Amino acid sequence: MSRRSGRPLVQVEDLQKYFWENDSILDRLFGDDPVPVRAVDGVSFDIHEGETLGLVGESGCGKSTTGETLLRLQEPTDGHVTFDGHEVYDLGGDELTAFRREAQVVFQDPFSSLDPRMTIGETIRQPLEVHDIGTDDERRERVRDLVERVGLSPDQLDRYPHEFSGGQRQRIGIARALALEPEFIVLDEPTSALDVSVQAQVLNLLDDLQDEFNLTYLLISHDLSVIRHVCDRVAVMYLGEIVEIGLVDELFENPDHPYTQALLESVPRASTDERDRDRETLAGDVPSPRDPPSGCRFRTRCPMVIPPEDLELEQETYRELMSLRERIERRDISLESVGDDGQFDADDGSVPDEDVPAFIAAVKERLLDVPLPPRHDAIVEEALAELAAENWEAAAERLRTEYESVCERESPDLGEQAHPVACHLHGTASERTAEPDSWT
Ligand code: SF4
Repeated sequence: MSRRSGRPLVQVEDLQKYFWENDSILDRLFGDDPVPVRAVDGVSFDIHEGETLGLVGESGCGKSTTGETLLRLQEPTDGHVTFDGHEVYDLGGDELTAFRREAQVVFQDPFSSLDPRMTIGETIRQPLEVHDIGTDDERRERVRDLVERVGLSPDQLDRYPHEFSGGQRQRIGIARALALEPEFIVLDEPTSALDVSVQAQVLNLLDDLQDEFNLTYLLISHDLSVIRHVCDRVAVMYLGEIVEIGLVDELFENPDHPYTQALLESVPRASTDERDRDRETLAGDVPSPRDPPSGCRFRTRCPMVIPPEDLELEQETYRELMSLRERIERRDISLESVGDDGQFDADDGSVPDEDVPAFIAAVKERLLDVPLPPRHDAIVEEALAELAAENWEAAAERLRTEYESVCERESPDLGEQAHPVACHLHGTASERTAEPDSWT
């Protein structure tokens, strides 16, 4: 798809969507505090008329919740969305009905998003009936027209969804979304349930329809090749936040955020040269949105996390020390299983004094893959001696004092430069504020 110019049609500002755990009547009776699950935690972006903005990230990063919340399929926790200049969360009555006509969604799964008891003619006609648009004849004509526009035959209107392939069902879903002549469509993983051979057909169809009906798209996908094929700009999400946003070509050629770089590195390449290069895959799991890391949320997996000033350590070594401390902080080390069976057992749970050196050696052997310079080896041994006495907090504090990173103390902002990126490697937001280029 080509870039299109236009005014901002959708403006999302500091949007938050939290879900709450421990929030039942029973939980309240027992005095449990509700725990927020921060699915979307302060995202801001604009989508311009006629543009396709991609939203990409690993599964569970909040992409679909962002799409559903800005369409008001879910109520936000906080923040603003304006559509064509109107605050979406203030709409009611006729204005809300009009918004529901103008803003549609195509879901990922064409198998479950269609009612199996309705023919496809009824399925596509239903929104026209709900919104009381046209006479019977006009509705019939519109449905025939739409079904042809998405590459199916009007002869198939009396058939049921199970009689169609996955690609055909997705075409039906697209025809239904187009029935009300919307301006804006959220495409939520529209091709990820389809065979690769069918994916390109559906993407090309969406491209043609965008030109024909001057549509604006938000395309949600975990698939970078789909994003590159289809989008004008792309926003990269990690753990409920946007970490980088820019023009697709620029971002794919020069990704600035370490997470974007890692995502791109993990895509299989076609050419032999590129296949042979070292591929750095993303280490570790995505942390829970119930308890996101302090500072930069990517810091627990970032291969470029920033060491304290004056600390001269290889990044790999520093990363290992960070990981060791994080495991101690999470109490994610089973002290009983260190060493051979029962080797370091003591009645009170701590390691007997005479066994502490062997315990420290065993933990280092198990958790550290790289040799440490002598000064750092001594610091780690002090921390592990605290661990042998079951002083978890003192062990973590010893390491924190020496190795705490700016990435865990301070949360990076996106800034307002032409290609915003939320990473301390690219300065603070105020340093990065520059006259934004027009997106066109
Ligand atoms: S702020 Fe730090 S941890 Fe976060 S992406 Fe940048 S370098 Fe990595």
